[in-house]
Amino acid sequence: MAVCCRPYAAAPYVDTQMMRYFLSLFCPLFLSGIAAAAEEFPQPSPQMLGQVARLKAKNIPLVDYHIHLRGGMTAEKAFDWEKRTGIRSGVLENTGKGWPLSDNEKLATFIKDAKRFPLLVGIQVNDRDWYKTLSPENAKQIDYVLADTMIMALTPNGKPQKLWLENEYEIADPPAWLDRYFEHCLTVVNEPIQILANPTYLPPRMEKYSDEFWNTERMTKLIDAAVKNNVALEIQSPSKFPSNRFIEIARKKGAVLSVGRNNFDDRKDELKRPLDLLESLNIKPEEMFILKK
Ligand SMILES: [Zn+2]
Repeated sequence: MAVCCRPYAAAPYVDTQMMRYFLSLFCPLFLSGIAAAAEEFPQPSPQMLGQVARLKAKNIPLVDYHIHLRGGMTAEKAFDWEKRTGIRSGVLENTGKGWPLSDNEKLATFIKDAKRFPLLVGIQVNDRDWYKTLSPENAKQIDYVLADTMIMALTPNGKPQKLWLENEYEIADPPAWLDRYFEHCLTVVNEPIQILANPTYLPPRMEKYSDEFWNTERMTKLIDAAVKNNVALEIQSPSKFPSNRFIEIARKKGAVLSVGRNNFDDRKDELKRPLDLLESLNIKPEEMFILKK
């Protein structure tokens, strides 16, 4: 592929179409290689680039802090997307028991791989004692810690349940479960994290309680804890949480916001919902999270 491409690059005066035709005859991989590369490094749409330009003109700092290196997504692809879009990439992966980065050795390898590129590198923490098990060496290397509230044990020492998997969580008594869940949300936001991902999430079976459960009092308590701890509240592109009402209270309380894609693969994500909200709500630069090491 590299050899095939060289004459094309070295002879810009040759008619492009002719050269492509010539190369396709003698190097069958040439055209399919171009197609594969285009797929591997997706292009942002003109709409997205326009949106980013408008937000940057207002000095809005744009960083996607929630790019998982999984499902084909790599540090190289995240860096390429950063260059194409102008949105900084923060890459991370899940840490904890039973997760891809289940110990400090695996985490060190992950950090080393990601740092081959000038990216922000974080971790998503899933065990509630993560700050006791993270090695000081790894803690020094990472730029930020992100957590969501989507894994909860029913009792402090119980088995963690994944709340987005319908057959993995039990709810015998919804009001008691909701009380426990709120306690869990406060536990997570009081950990030494920088970003609370997907705030006010509720699992599918409990979504019908959302308006009643996430009343002003509970939202305010969660936001107050985030402000006190300098924790950013994430607007995640695939999620409908948090609500505009939550963002409104968060802004009044002086909270800061972050954006993230929470991807499962390497397809492009133009952060449509987060960027639309930053524009339509006229978010100010100082309302965005800025990472301080
Ligand atoms: Zn995530």
